[in-house]
Amino acid sequence: MDPSLDLFVIGAGSGGVRAARLAAHLGARVAVAEMAATGGTCVNLGCIPKKLYSYAAHFAETFHEAHGFGWPVQAPALDWELLKANRAAEIRRLNGVYEAVLDGAAAELVRGRARIVSPHEVEVAGRRFHARHILVATGGHPVIPDVPGGEHALCSDDMFDLPRFPKRLVVVGGGYIACEMASIFRGLGAEVAQIVRGSRLLRGFDNDVARFLAAEMGKKGVDIRLGTHLQRIDRGDDGLRATMHDGHMLAADTVLYATGRTPNTRGLGLEEAGVALGARGEVVVDARYRSSVPSILAVGDVTDRVQLTPVALAEAMVVVDDLFGRGERRLDYDFIPTAVFTHPGIGTVGWTEAQARERFGVVRTYQSEFRSLKHTLSGSSERTLMKLVVDDASDRVVGLHMVGAEAGETVQGFAVALKAGATKAVFDATIGIHPTAAEEFVTMREPVSR
Ligand code: FAD
Ligand code: NDP
Repeated sequence: MDPSLDLFVIGAGSGGVRAARLAAHLGARVAVAEMAATGGTCVNLGCIPKKLYSYAAHFAETFHEAHGFGWPVQAPALDWELLKANRAAEIRRLNGVYEAVLDGAAAELVRGRARIVSPHEVEVAGRRFHARHILVATGGHPVIPDVPGGEHALCSDDMFDLPRFPKRLVVVGGGYIACEMASIFRGLGAEVAQIVRGSRLLRGFDNDVARFLAAEMGKKGVDIRLGTHLQRIDRGDDGLRATMHDGHMLAADTVLYATGRTPNTRGLGLEEAGVALGARGEVVVDARYRSSVPSILAVGDVTDRVQLTPVALAEAMVVVDDLFGRGERRLDYDFIPTAVFTHPGIGTVGWTEAQARERFGVVRTYQSEFRSLKHTLSGSSERTLMKLVVDDASDRVVGLHMVGAEAGETVQGFAVALKAGATKAVFDATIGIHPTAAEEFVTMREPVSR
């Protein structure tokens, strides 16, 4: 048996590494198991490679728009191999950074698939560790639903290293990953069709945001088909054939299913140790991230709540504070800002109009749709949407939504204001920065609905 530890973390992803590092800094004896590359989903197969490819995709527009600004350049062809190689090199660098972080904190990184063998014991690569606390931070993985020919379909994990750039891409799903991948691959030059089973994109986002995004993505050439689904996928002489339920057929080089992710709890020994799992296999935790077995805790995607890196990090910090610190940290799940890196992007914080009406009763909404200054010369027809949702009784701004360039960058700052409880009067008293798109958020005066 290896020496006894204070904390054994399973998974060196966003939540796991943060917990291990902070716990070790507070003097805890810590080890972390990782069966794949360090950094987890975000670094290897999520946020980072996705954003790098989004930057790459934006170049196509930039070449095109340069003409209007006096740069008559011709758009070169994408070098997919070069993009993949540069991405891979940057990810390798980040893997090294994560390893150095753990090393610097004196948290041992144990390579291999971990399995819980008792409420205080974990086995990895033939070694058995005893720990006061076990933190499950194993994330999730994409699921491809059962569909005839589903073996021909890929998931988001496969998209970053495709051997050949897909000239024709069919994306199934209307969520974060589907919309981002559709936008990015369209920007990189693919013909993209997006198959959405519901009547709109991005369930859970504001209706106006979803409607506006669909229109903007459509203008950029993404063929969005709402209210439909794939019946089967076949391999033919010229690639794949995706048949929809109404009999329509789409030819494709790649079919991507982006239809949700499921928690990594299988084979972890959780149930045998007495840990209660939810309907989707997630670890059920209380407000302090403890499972039904008090020595086993869980944070991040494996709990199937808010699947965002900053949330996994924040949860990890609460756990470490609870176990080894002052126990004062709390995480408030209201007003978590988020961005969808579509083209154009979405930035949002707080409640949608519909949610706010349900929660607060009377709300005022302020909305502005416009063509940004840049596009007066760029030739692009891209438009921007900005929307505020205000609780009428308190005048508090309870929702702020944007579709447009740099929406994530813009909304991060406003998220502080919403979290601090800023009222519409405070927004009105704030001087804008001119000329920016963001100034619109502090200059909208007339409600469009009440
Ligand atoms: P992960 O980061 O997934 O880490 C889990 C780790 O555990 C993995 O490294 C895994 O190999 C390891 N593991 C699993 N089982 C075992 C075992 N038995 N033994 C040892 N190791 C094990 N979020 C954002 O905030 N912004 C974004 O822009 C964004 N983009 C995304 C794009 C895509 C395509 C995807 C898929 C996700 C994206 N996310 C984004 C979500 C974000 O990546 C996750 O919410 C975040 O990574 C969750 O962190 P985690 O610590 O819970 O798990
Ligand atoms: P989402 O839950 O966001 O979206 C899943 C989509 O697939 C929905 O449109 C859903 O439709 C649809 N769907 C589900 N099952 C089927 C099916 N059987 N057939 C057809 N369509 C189906 O999951 P994602 O995989 O897109 O992303 C997972 C999570 O990762 C996100 O929720 C987000 O938290 C995180 N993420 C964050 C990003 C960011 O911060 N920018 C980027 C990427 C991911 P319906 O709505 O009808 O259920």
